[in-house]
Amino acid sequence: MTDSTSSLLSSIPSVDKLLRTADAETLINAFGRQPVINAVRDDLAALRQALAKKEDVDANDIAGPNILARVAARLETDLSPSLKPVFNLTGTVLHTNLGRAPLPEEAIDAIAAVSRGACNLEYNLATGKRGDRDVHLEDKLAQLIGAEAVTIVNNNAAAVLLMLNALALRKEVIVSRGELIEIGGAFRIPDIMSRAGAKLREVGTTNRTHPKDFEEAISAKTVMVMKIHTSNYEVQGFTAAVSDQDLAALAHNNDLPFVIDLGSGTMTDLRRFGLPHEPTAQEALASGADLVSFSGDKLLGGPQAGIIAGRADLIAKIKKNPMKRAMRCDKMTIAALETILRLYADPDRLAERIPTLRLLARKQDDIQATAARISSPLDTALGDQHTIYQEQCQSQIGSGSLPAERLDSIALVIRPTATKGVGTALKRLATAFRSLPMPVIGRIQDDGFWLDLRCLEAENEDAFTSQLTELKIK
Ligand SMILES: *Cc1c(COP(=O)(O)O)cnc(C)c1O
Repeated sequence: MTDSTSSLLSSIPSVDKLLRTADAETLINAFGRQPVINAVRDDLAALRQALAKKEDVDANDIAGPNILARVAARLETDLSPSLKPVFNLTGTVLHTNLGRAPLPEEAIDAIAAVSRGACNLEYNLATGKRGDRDVHLEDKLAQLIGAEAVTIVNNNAAAVLLMLNALALRKEVIVSRGELIEIGGAFRIPDIMSRAGAKLREVGTTNRTHPKDFEEAISAKTVMVMKIHTSNYEVQGFTAAVSDQDLAALAHNNDLPFVIDLGSGTMTDLRRFGLPHEPTAQEALASGADLVSFSGDKLLGGPQAGIIAGRADLIAKIKKNPMKRAMRCDKMTIAALETILRLYADPDRLAERIPTLRLLARKQDDIQATAARISSPLDTALGDQHTIYQEQCQSQIGSGSLPAERLDSIALVIRPTATKGVGTALKRLATAFRSLPMPVIGRIQDDGFWLDLRCLEAENEDAFTSQLTELKIK
């Protein structure tokens, strides 16, 4: 050990001495005593280790204020939330990785109201006796959908699992081969089927399935005919599928229930907002389905939930299944969903009040106006190493809704001025935007970094531009 190393080692301040300073007191007020003590100890240990390994350490590094500045930075990072808001400028409106549907303010208020204290989640205020958490939603939903009965679980994957377990345990369910889908991650229909304890009987081929395929497959072991909305892809070309009406008739002729997993089903005709048509829960039931299931946080625009609607006797059986208890919604979901249902009761104003529908229906000139307003602050923040262009682009609906449909939109595209190392430069750019206090998520495409502005609404433009001074492209 050299003299300077040992003198540096001996002049590292003690934890106690550091904690008695005014800087430390500020930190303790902000973060709490124990987290500050732990962070100081870690920093001092790192200093000693660096000295032992003869790494570059100087008198500045061991000065009390500098130690505490490092501790502050470290606590800031460690204690900042892992889950946080981001700007979704990917061009995919219902982005599963980015939390899908943004909620209306009313729904957020409703969540806050029931979360702050006690609420009548399972308490009947009329009788003063124990109640049922599902009553807050079931009748309203049944009325909106025009269904005999409804029940709700945590998400649509759970809804599918529960329907199969409650109605098809150890029995056969007939599904077309063209519908044995995988929806991101681990949701694959054949796997869900087997986990639910049901036996999958696949019929037809990938591209074509006919009524006789179903007829020939029906046996004494069959308990359900199921249709899964192929929500994230389209089969094109030489194709044939059996219509919902024909499948319903076929199932009913054999005394079997016909069940449709709609995925991103809606409760209103999207054409009224200038959007492509997506089958609604009402249409599914009208076509003869005995049960239909769909997500709460896809096109419906609400909280994560799975909704099952249809025949009262089947819903009663599902509600009695013990798995229902393991999949029940919490009070926050119920509060948010109840608000969403209230908004759906007034379809004329849905496009303004449900953010998902508002974003999907947003007109290109409105998006263009955002582009015009933010392009100059963006240009300033980027400096002369980059140029910025306005481009037409196409947004996707996402979450497997209407997979082949695109919505005309506007993007700001950032391109590095250097012609070499463009790939690396674009990755750095994307990293810099992701590192902002409210991360901005775009996409790299055709030698540019694309920010599709569909989901940057006027009221959020200031929040977007004001943080650009912190953009650091490394
Ligand atoms: C999205 C989807 C599911 C899963 O729904 P979650 O609400 O994400 O659990 C199931 N089936 C279909 C057809 C879907 O599109």
